[in-house]
Amino acid sequence: MERKERVFFTCSLLLYIMWQFKSPFIVFGEDALDYLDSVNARAFFIVTDANITRLGLVDVIARHLNAPHTVFDRVEPEPSLQTVRAIAREMTAANPDWIIGLGGGSSMDAAKAAWLLYEKPDAEIGAINPMENYGVRAKAKLIAIPTTSGTGSETTLATVLTDTEEHRKLSLGSYELVPDIAIVDPALVMKLPQVITADTGMDVLTHAVEGYTSRMHNDFSDGMCLKAVELVLAYLPRAYADGNDVEARTHMHNAATIAGLGFGNSQAALAHAMGHSLGALFKIAHGRAVSLFLPYAIEYTANGGGTRYADIAHMMKLHTHAELESARAVADCIRDLERNMQMPTTLSEAGITREQFVEALPRLVANANMDTQLVMNLRVPESAELEKLFEYAFEGRRVDF
Ligand code: NAD
Repeated sequence: MERKERVFFTCSLLLYIMWQFKSPFIVFGEDALDYLDSVNARAFFIVTDANITRLGLVDVIARHLNAPHTVFDRVEPEPSLQTVRAIAREMTAANPDWIIGLGGGSSMDAAKAAWLLYEKPDAEIGAINPMENYGVRAKAKLIAIPTTSGTGSETTLATVLTDTEEHRKLSLGSYELVPDIAIVDPALVMKLPQVITADTGMDVLTHAVEGYTSRMHNDFSDGMCLKAVELVLAYLPRAYADGNDVEARTHMHNAATIAGLGFGNSQAALAHAMGHSLGALFKIAHGRAVSLFLPYAIEYTANGGGTRYADIAHMMKLHTHAELESARAVADCIRDLERNMQMPTTLSEAGITREQFVEALPRLVANANMDTQLVMNLRVPESAELEKLFEYAFEGRRVDF
C-alpha cells in the first residue's frame, strides 16, 4: 500500500473507532493487590515470565486468589506469535474465567493476545485490528498487573508481538483487549533493577510526549499525557537513584498507567515506529529503543512546524516559549535524562557497529515504514528521510531537516 493510502486508511480506521476514551477499572496505590481478594472466579490463569516466578511475585498474587490457578511463565521479552499460540493452548486446556497478565508489557501483551485466541481460536493473531468484532469476554475477563513502571499495557488496547520469521514487531490492537481491571500496586516494582527502571521509565516519557503530539491527540488524553510528563521528570531520577524510595516508585508506577491512558487513547508516533523497527533486529529493550529515538523524532517533527512542544517544555519546567526553541529544549532535556541514567543517546552508544548498522538500514527503514504508529506522527517522513533519521540517530547528530 502506498504511503498516502496508508495514512488515509489508518486515519479512517481510527476515526471509525474514535472518538471514545477507553479505560479499565483501575485500582492503584499501596495494598491495591488486596482488591484481588474480592474477585470471584471459577479458575484463574496467570500469564507471566520466569523472572517474575523466581522473584516470588506469582506467589504474592496467588495468596489473594479464591479459586484454583494455572501458571504459564514462559513469556519471553518482546513475545512471539508462537508463544502466544502456546499460551492459548494451555489456556484452553485450563478453561479459566479470569486471566491475569502479570509482569511487564511482554507478559501483559502476551496475555491479551492469548486471551483473544482462547475466545476466538480461528482468529488470525498477527492481524488483530480494531475493525473486527472478536466477541472477547464470552469465556473470560482480564486483569492486568504491571511489575514494571513502563508500558501502560494494563490500560491500552495494544498488544505488541514479534513475528520472528519476518523479523518484525507488530503493533496490533483491539478495543476489546483493554483489560477489565488494572491493579497498579507499587509493591511489585520495589525490586526493579536500576537498568530496567531507567528503560521502562523513559518508555513512560515517550508515551506521554508522543501521545500529546500525535495526530490523534484529543482533549481527553491531553491532560493524562501532560501529567505523566510532570511525574516522570519529578520522580524517575529519584526512583533510579534509590530504588527503595517508595514515594518515587509509587508516582512512577502511577505515571506509567496515566501515560498508558493518554497515548492509548491518542496513539504513539514516529519514535515508536523507529523503536519497534530497531527492537525487532537488535536485542535492545523496548523503552531504551523508543526513547533513544524520541529527541530525533521531536526535532524532525518540530522542523515541520505546527507542533505542541511548548506545553511539554512547560511541564518539564523549561523556560522557553517559541515552538521550535521549546522542541529543541525538550529534546536536549530528554538526552540529559538519558545520559544521567547511563542510557545510550545514539545507536553507536547502544552497541551497534557501523557494519551492523549499514547492513540493517534497509530493513530498519522498511520495518518503520510498515509500523502503524508512523502515520500518527504530525509530520510523516518518506523513506529517504527515515533513512536519514536512522543515520542521524546512529551518529548522534541534531536533526536539521
Ligand atoms: P518486559 O515485560 O519485556 O520485561 C523486561 C524484563 O524485566 C524481563 O526480564 C522481566 O522479567 C523483568 N521484570 C519485570 N518486572 C520485574 C520486577 N518487578 N523486578 C525485576 N525484574 C522484572 O519489559 P517492558 O518494558 O515492561 O515491556 C516491553 C514490551 O511491552 C515490549 O514488547 C513492548 O513492545 C511492549 N509494549 C506494549 C505496550 C502496550 O500498550 N501494549 C506499550 C509499550 C510497550
